Amino acid sequence: MSRIAYVNGRYLLHKRASVHIEDRGFQFADAVYEVIAVRRGRLIDEGMHLGRLHRSLGELRIAVPMSDAAMRAVMAEVVRRNRVLDGMLYLQVSRGSAPRDFAFPRHVKPSLVMTSRPARGPAPRLIEEGVGVITIDDIRWARPDIKSVSLLPNALGKQRAKEAGAYEAWQVDAAGNVTEGTSSNAWIITGAGEVVTRQADRRILNGVTRLGLLGLLEGEGLRVVERPFSVAEAKAAREAFLTSTTNFVLPVVSIDGTPIGNGHPGSIVRKLRQVYDDYAAAQGEGP
Ligand code: PMP
Repeated sequence: MSRIAYVNGRYLLHKRASVHIEDRGFQFADAVYEVIAVRRGRLIDEGMHLGRLHRSLGELRIAVPMSDAAMRAVMAEVVRRNRVLDGMLYLQVSRGSAPRDFAFPRHVKPSLVMTSRPARGPAPRLIEEGVGVITIDDIRWARPDIKSVSLLPNALGKQRAKEAGAYEAWQVDAAGNVTEGTSSNAWIITGAGEVVTRQADRRILNGVTRLGLLGLLEGEGLRVVERPFSVAEAKAAREAFLTSTTNFVLPVVSIDGTPIGNGHPGSIVRKLRQVYDDYAAAQGEGP
């Protein structure tokens, strides 16, 4: 079966789908994106992703390409045409294509691109045994809360993690506090049993998985604190984990080679993985 991509109003063969070389996404990373999980052909937390997309577009003054209703229809169609049951949908909106000039063009239409593909999420072994992370300096621009495609530092960080045999790199700010992973949010559970993740200020992307889990934690009777935590505190934590659309809740069992707790996923993170899986599965089953 051929993969299909949506590009500015047309459904094209994926291998022939392209945008113009003067697209500002290509020239300046002047574009924003979303990645949405698909379960049983349905988009998980679609409304929250669209909400974040609007925020990113608004912060950069990129025009909204179409109404939410139209966007939802195109997203569903891209998933359907690719026959994706479990996987993900990628969408990108750039400011548009115009002769190369830093300042915004006067008359430009935003470009909208979408793709969808099956994805299995992390291997069962990684969920069972947990993953290692390394720490790296956070060298990103000062607005990583905007989900822009300016992802070079993230790509460099992920490559460093891969070369170190780790799954993810946790970025660290000038004060020595963990901001977030290169494509995931970072969490720890302290010895006192507090679930800690950095507050959604301008230094992190406010993950949809992060937000979903925060909502679910309220019902679990766990104490949650949104505050910065240092690398030293993370290494001394009882448990640690990361969250993202493609990983859901994934246990972290070592940081820079230092085992967290006894080096195996702890009981709280296992529970949270289950709670989040159930939450996503329920959306896949629909109303
Ligand atoms: N932080 C960064 C830098 C990311 O790229 C991502 C994934 N896009 C996340 C956090 C997690 O966000 P979400 O749960 O919405 O996938």
